[in-house]
Amino acid sequence: MQRRPGFPARMPGAGSAPAKPAPQPSAARQYAAVPTGVGLDSSAVRARMVQKLVASGIDSAMVLHAMGSVERHRFVDSALANQAYEDTSLPIGLGQTISKPNVVARMCELLLGAEIARTGGLGRVLEIGTGCGYQAAVLSLLAREVYTLERLRGLHDKARDNLRPFRLANVHLLFGDGMLGYAKGAPYAAIIAAAGGDAVPQAWCDQLAVGGRLVAPMALSGGQQMLLVIDKTPHGLKQNVLEPVHFVPLKSGIA
Ligand code: SAH
Repeated sequence: MQRRPGFPARMPGAGSAPAKPAPQPSAARQYAAVPTGVGLDSSAVRARMVQKLVASGIDSAMVLHAMGSVERHRFVDSALANQAYEDTSLPIGLGQTISKPNVVARMCELLLGAEIARTGGLGRVLEIGTGCGYQAAVLSLLAREVYTLERLRGLHDKARDNLRPFRLANVHLLFGDGMLGYAKGAPYAAIIAAAGGDAVPQAWCDQLAVGGRLVAPMALSGGQQMLLVIDKTPHGLKQNVLEPVHFVPLKSGIA
């Protein structure tokens, strides 16, 4: 897309005003405002993590940019910060874990493949299982609005503390049972679950927009947990079973 000249138009070479930097997306600007540090050059380590994501087959530029921007080490205990950019899941308290970067990137890439997202990008997204808030921060760079539900009060509070410095105006942290979805924000262009059950709750399908996509781990017959993609088409739901995954269990109720 060609940029229209600003007004008043400036002739090349006229005056000595430096060229204006290209406008950044607002969320990226917010990240840039967060002070860096904890004793590790996190942008270089993140760049290496992104290279590994590319090598593992992630090729969405938007996802790679988001993964390269969000400071994962800020979402884990400081004692684990030096492992934050390894492709490993890490404990976040209350028996829960933050997913591997590779799995987060893979699931985000799948969301962007929703029919409804192909033209105008991702609109509203519902995340089940806020955990420490890391994936919600990644999603905030990929979607217009992110609604994220957590059933454990302790983690809901932790995510709020973790996310506060990033000032992500498009992330809505909700405390409640994600198995019921969140009807007030529906319909969603995408729903992503970070915890695995053995059936897809009806509420999730109901709250998905036509053209929208659900990505969730699910235990299939035999007990093996697999990554499931469900597309809501004008003719009904279309399901695809992808690779095996290992997520914490989806539980009902709050605690
Ligand atoms: N996306 C998270 C991963 C958290 S692990 C992150 O980036 O950190 C999965 C989370 O799902 C856990 O915190 C668990 O408490 C939560 N969870 C499990 N069942 C849930 C439910 N029914 N509703 C909401 N959250 C749930």
